Amino acid sequence: MNVLIIGAGGREHALAWKISQSPYCEQIFVAPGNAGTAQIATNVDIAITNFEELAKFATDFNIMMMVVGQEAALVEGIADYFAENEYLKHILVVGPRKAGAQLEGSKDFSKQFLLKYGIPTAQYQTFTPETFDQGLAYLQNHAYPVVLKADGLAAGKGVVIAQNQEEAALALTDMLKNNKFGSAGSKVVIEEFLQGIELSAFILTDGKEYVLLPEAKDYKRIGEGDQGLNTGGMGAISPVPFADDAFMAKVRERVIEPTLRGLQQEGIPYSGFLFIGLMNSGGDPYVIEYNVRLGDPETEAILPRIQSDLFELFKALHDHELGQFQLSVDPRSATTIFLVSGGYPEDYAKGHPIQGLDQVMPQDSFCFHAGTKKAADGQIVTDGGRVIAVTALGQDMEDALEKANAAAANIQWQDRYFRQDIGFDLKQYLTQ
Ligand code: ATP
Repeated sequence: MNVLIIGAGGREHALAWKISQSPYCEQIFVAPGNAGTAQIATNVDIAITNFEELAKFATDFNIMMMVVGQEAALVEGIADYFAENEYLKHILVVGPRKAGAQLEGSKDFSKQFLLKYGIPTAQYQTFTPETFDQGLAYLQNHAYPVVLKADGLAAGKGVVIAQNQEEAALALTDMLKNNKFGSAGSKVVIEEFLQGIELSAFILTDGKEYVLLPEAKDYKRIGEGDQGLNTGGMGAISPVPFADDAFMAKVRERVIEPTLRGLQQEGIPYSGFLFIGLMNSGGDPYVIEYNVRLGDPETEAILPRIQSDLFELFKALHDHELGQFQLSVDPRSATTIFLVSGGYPEDYAKGHPIQGLDQVMPQDSFCFHAGTKKAADGQIVTDGGRVIAVTALGQDMEDALEKANAAAANIQWQDRYFRQDIGFDLKQYLTQ
């Protein structure tokens, strides 16, 4: 069977790597892919939102399965396009249609949904340019810090945690009056700041049944000790030591199951991954956000732990048999460290040759490409902020971290940077 993966990051390289291990898989194509996916699949130079070209390619190359990694394609309706065209209907699409993708595409929609179905989340109110003055008044009486979120997709940059009223008013003005995030900021959710420690839960679901995948914790800030600007993610750990059976039972009962019941009651079909960003606040899970695809870098940490054939998992999704699917998971720890360009997440240079990629990776460690490309002279060069994700499996988190740090140190380019403290906040849970 031929498979098309949509996206260009470390997540898509990890998906291609995992799918390529299936005996059912014949050829893998990645649109648009990167220098890493080119080593195990064929890259296709088509933009992720050019549905017409993607459909033509899928027909010409006998694609039977399409796995959508990136949210923008889902929010713009790639799954609808494939479902609504007779000649594309036989293709199994892993990713929800537009209606379901609103869970990620609109924070106002997801907050209303959470409230309606009694799923624990921070208290909030939504404001628009018309209700800007009420927004300012709301901020006057609010406790601090407070969280302001642009409604639409803003590549992880649309969230401001304001420490005081002045900062909050400025952020509200930027979003509603100064158009800082364009149409994504034409509505703003203002919500209560939740104290606690975050983790990411993932399911694959057909909207009724689901398989819970390994959870992970990601590290968003650029600096050690979780300081500095937010990034797409600097590393990830799976499993998460505090996500024990009792906590995950709460996640299933209070969050996952009511979410699926809510989708059914709303008449929203859903087929694909659902990523639930959670805050563990005093031992109870609260939803911070929904994403309608896997996370990046979490995918690079969780896929190496999944021993089941991904193809069989997707077939169970298609056949509505996820309820019976026994996912086999490696009990070892996986740690992922992202190597990034100096300057990221602000300005950075591209085109630096990357050294060390041809070295054999230490046992049980993997190198997933994100912002890389092959230059005209055949060298692999940097082509983005987040460049390479290195994952290692170990007997425990510390063993895995040691291996991942050692493997990361072998890969070099001018001004490359990585955090050496991934997992620092989880060590306290290991001794408990
Ligand atoms: P991303 O795309 O990076 O996942 P996003 O733009 O979709 O992010 P959120 O995940 O909702 O936005 O928020 C980004 C980060 O801000 C969260 O991971 C969390 O660290 C912090 N955050 C968001 N909401 C809250 C909250 N209510 N209380 C405390 N922290 C929060």
